[in-house]
Amino acid sequence: MNMADDESGDGQLEARLAEQEAFEPSDDFVEQANVSDASIYDEFADNWPACWTRAADLLDWDEEYTQVLDDSEEPFYEWFADGTLNASYNCVDRHVENGAKNRVAIKWEGEHGETRTYTYQDLFREVNEFAAALRDLGVEEDDVVTLYMPMVPELPVAMLACARIGAPHSVVFAGFSAEALATRMNAAESRYLVTCDGYYRRGDPLDHQAKANEGLSNVDHEVDATVVVDRLGDNGFGHDLQRNQHDWDSLMSAHQGDRVDPVERGAEDMLFLMYTSGTTGKPKGVKHTTGGYLAYTAWTSHSVLDLEPEDTYWCSADIGWITGHSYIVYGPLALGTTTVMYEGTPDYPDRGRLWELVEKYAVDVFYTAPTAIRAFMKWGPEYPAEYDLSTLRLLGTVGEPINPRAWKWYYKHIGGEECPIVDTWWQTETGGMMVSTLPGVGTMKPGSAGPPLPGIGAHVVDTGGDEVEAGQAGYLTVDRPWPGMLRTLYRNDERFVDEYWQTHSDADAGEWVYFPEDGAKIDDDGYITILGRVDDVVNVSGHRLGTMEIESAIVGVEGVAEAAVVGGDHDIKGEAVYAYVILEDGYGGDDEMRDRIVAGVDDAIGPIAKPESVTFTPELPKTRSGKIMRRLLEEIANGEELGDTTTLRNPEVVSDIQEQASGD
Ligand code: ATP
Ligand code: MG
Repeated sequence: MNMADDESGDGQLEARLAEQEAFEPSDDFVEQANVSDASIYDEFADNWPACWTRAADLLDWDEEYTQVLDDSEEPFYEWFADGTLNASYNCVDRHVENGAKNRVAIKWEGEHGETRTYTYQDLFREVNEFAAALRDLGVEEDDVVTLYMPMVPELPVAMLACARIGAPHSVVFAGFSAEALATRMNAAESRYLVTCDGYYRRGDPLDHQAKANEGLSNVDHEVDATVVVDRLGDNGFGHDLQRNQHDWDSLMSAHQGDRVDPVERGAEDMLFLMYTSGTTGKPKGVKHTTGGYLAYTAWTSHSVLDLEPEDTYWCSADIGWITGHSYIVYGPLALGTTTVMYEGTPDYPDRGRLWELVEKYAVDVFYTAPTAIRAFMKWGPEYPAEYDLSTLRLLGTVGEPINPRAWKWYYKHIGGEECPIVDTWWQTETGGMMVSTLPGVGTMKPGSAGPPLPGIGAHVVDTGGDEVEAGQAGYLTVDRPWPGMLRTLYRNDERFVDEYWQTHSDADAGEWVYFPEDGAKIDDDGYITILGRVDDVVNVSGHRLGTMEIESAIVGVEGVAEAAVVGGDHDIKGEAVYAYVILEDGYGGDDEMRDRIVAGVDDAIGPIAKPESVTFTPELPKTRSGKIMRRLLEEIANGEELGDTTTLRNPEVVSDIQEQASGD
């Protein structure tokens, strides 16, 4: 085949894909899917809340529960409340006991290509030894243990060891600052810390221990013990252990062969705390409990990610984010699956790194974020094309709306047009997925997440609480509790009620409605398209425009990889649309491109939404979970002083963007 044929063939395919609005899973996929019968929606609707025993049945309980849902103190719901269980037993011991001791639990790959493999038996041994070490250091049931660790296998080991002895963990993303660590340890009055000497980023060792020590010096109470994992060995920074600091390996040797009985925990006992990423301000300590959370993550891993024990599954998120808790650690391990963990970034040593790993580990199911997919698009399809990705069966995304162009790129270049894609909407607070197609059941519509999962009461309503008509936008709400839901904000019941339940509930009438603070649109077939956070709006001459909608129009323009839109002050209009745009490789940020972007927004939304300013930039400021920090861009647009940048993943981009913006 010559080049010309190739291009026209490819061009036709692109054109066909660009037109196509609905996609069906293949017969082969449906045939093998864990859930393939649409009757599951009715089954859950007709039999609610008892339907949730389906989720609880995926676990082994010490004491069976007698009541599924206790709603006597709304909105403080309890699930399976009188049942008892242990999460580490469910994620580790029972697989060892059930004949899977030599199945791989965790496949870890370091940035430089070192590998570590943990069978369920290995995991059992390490979790027990570390649980014994924690006990020895004085950790008791219900003590909060802070884990400030990068993507090393010791992180899930520590999480499961905490779960084993009933000590809730609070994982603080390793990329966060010393200050962020101290704030979170203070808020939880956490007296124990597990951390790491460092890790690798793009070839260089990072000094994590210095940051941890700096954080510790700002903790307001006595910290009883700190454990430090030696990740860097001879490449380390040579910090001495301070008072009450211990080396991970020495502790493990001291407890070699120790066994710790899993503590019987009440279903409603806290499993962990997770501080939200703080895109919008002061971090909230989201409390998740043992029974409901584990049942929910296992159930959604089974029904949405379609995981089987035989699968090799890879979620490329960081465990420091809820996605990693639910879908690298708890959900997949509860099901006895092999879960892959990767230390590094997708473009080191080169832009094919992730696909190299998919091929190497023969990954069956892959779960990532739209922001990553847009980066892959920018780099070009030649990188995945070099690898054999044919083992993939299912793809997923989470974190942001995925625009149809990115969806189709993922579908074609990663899934080879054979893998269904689940676009899963959920939050730290929901514990697990809430809105998504079931891959073996539903039609996929790029850009639209799908219907609420079975048993989930998600709706799109107006300010009066009535469901909006098809095609209309409104507020996303959830009018029924679900097992994975947060139980409260740690030590702040009042803020919990204010933050999530005030806006759309009618407490006097006993109607409690959860408000995730996202806007959405509903289609006539009940599919929900997430529009983004309700506070992300630009007010142009009195018209409230959702930033996500404008961004989606911009990334629909050929050559655009990613865009962020904010409101900048404007004398006449009140606010004007400021766009920050990343282009795909090979496209220039010239006037022609600027005109095409403005025209694209005009076509998709109307002249009112046309950007006043378009700034081309190589990167956007992102939080650890890959979300654009719009607040910062707003400050840049308005030439204001910049607020807190400590939770940014890439603080260095800020000055680049400022330069570009002032250059226009
Ligand atoms: P904070 O609540 O601290 O400001 P955050 O909301 O960014 O931070 P997360 O809980 O990690 O923290 O993110 C949840 C949010 O991500 C959702 O409320 C929604 O806005 C967005 N989101 C997640 N998945 C999707 C998806 N599939 N489609 C659209 N938006 C999504
Ligand atoms: Mg949020």
